[in-house]
Amino acid sequence: MKIIDIREIAVPLNSSLRNSVFDFSQMKTSVVAVITDVIREGKPVVGYAFNSTGRYACGGQMRMRFIPRILNSDPDNLIDFDRNNFDPEKIFSVMMEGEKPGGHSDRSVGIGTIEVAIWDAIAKIEEKPAFRSISDRYNPGGAKPKMFVYVGGGWYAPNKGIPELLDEMKSYLDMGYTQLKIKIGGESISNDVKRLEAVLKLLNNDGNNLAVDANCGLTREAAFDYAKVLSPYNLRWYEEATDPLDFALMSDLAEIYSPPLATGENLFSTQDVRNLIQYGGLRTDHDVIQIDPPQSYGFVSVARTIKMLKTFGWSENSLMPHGGNQMSLHVAAGLGMLLCESYPDTFGIFSGFSDDAEIIDGHLTINENLPGIGFEAQSGIYEVMSKLSNN
Ligand SMILES: [Mg+2]
Repeated sequence: MKIIDIREIAVPLNSSLRNSVFDFSQMKTSVVAVITDVIREGKPVVGYAFNSTGRYACGGQMRMRFIPRILNSDPDNLIDFDRNNFDPEKIFSVMMEGEKPGGHSDRSVGIGTIEVAIWDAIAKIEEKPAFRSISDRYNPGGAKPKMFVYVGGGWYAPNKGIPELLDEMKSYLDMGYTQLKIKIGGESISNDVKRLEAVLKLLNNDGNNLAVDANCGLTREAAFDYAKVLSPYNLRWYEEATDPLDFALMSDLAEIYSPPLATGENLFSTQDVRNLIQYGGLRTDHDVIQIDPPQSYGFVSVARTIKMLKTFGWSENSLMPHGGNQMSLHVAAGLGMLLCESYPDTFGIFSGFSDDAEIIDGHLTINENLPGIGFEAQSGIYEVMSKLSNN
C-alpha cells in the first residue's frame, strides 16, 4: 500500500466580496490530489482537499518540502498496520521533518491541506464517510452525523445596501438555516448597527440567532466601542475584533463584554490555541473557538487541540470549524463539535456542501453512503479535482 503521487494546482476564488480588511479578488486556493495504489471499485483510491478560504494557495511549499518528504519516505513508515490503512499521524510527522518550531502558518496550510486529502483517501479505503473514520480514531461513539450549521454571510460588496443584505439573509432562511452571521467593521458603527437591526428584525429580534464578525479589522478603541454598542443585543457571538494574536486585548474585551466572544480561525496550531485559552480571557461556558482544519495542520492536529482543551476544562462543545465546506463538516461531525459553518454560494465551487444537501431547521444530515469527504457529490469542485488526478 503506497502513495504514488501528490499533485496540486492553484485555482482562483473569483470573488469580489469584502470583509473589514480585504477582498478576495486576487485570492487563489490550492487543490490537492493524493493518488494511491489501493483499488476500490476497480479504480485507484484518490484523496482530495483544498486549502479552505482566506489564505492563499501554497503550492510552492508543498512541491519543495511536504510532497517530496512523503514520496521519498519508505512506504511502510506511512502505514497503520492494525487498520491496514495509511496512518495520518505518521504522515503528519514525515511532513514535519526538518521544520523549525514556531511560525506555524509557514507550513500549517500546506501540510494541513495534504493531510486532509490523506483522510479522504483513508475513509475511501475504509468505505466510510470521513466523519466515521475520524470518530473511530478520536471520538468513538461521539459522532454527530446530524450537524447544526449556521451561515457565515453578510459580506460587504459593491453596491450592496441594506435591502440587498436582507435579500441575502432571507435567501438563507428560505434554504432552511436558522442562525446567521454578518460582517461588521467595514462601515461606520452607526451604519453597521442599522444593518444589524435590519437583520435582527428578520430573526424576530432574537440575538441568539445572529453573530457578527469584524475579521480582526478594528483598532483597540473601535473594538471596545463596538462591544459597548453590541452588548444589549445579546448576539450569538462577537467574532475577531482585533489582531488574532493580541490575547491581552481579547482578555480586556472579555472583561467588559459578557455575551459570547469567538475567535481562532487565524490560529494555526495546538500551541496557539493553548495560549489563547490561557491568556485570552475566554470563558469555557459560552465562548466559541473557531479553527480552520486544513489551514492548521489538518484533522490530527484538531483532535490533539481538543485533547489539550479538555485538560483546561473546555470541550468539543465550544468548537466550530471555520470554512463552510465538506472538510469542516466532516471534522465537526466526527469530533462531535458544537456546530459547523456554511457559506452557501459565497465562494463558488469552494463553498457549500454536497449538491443534494438539505438543511432542515438549521441541521444537515451527512450521507452515510458516500465514502470519504464527499467531494464527488459536489459537481463544481469535483470537476477541478478529478482533472488533477486524471492527467
Ligand atoms: Mg471569521
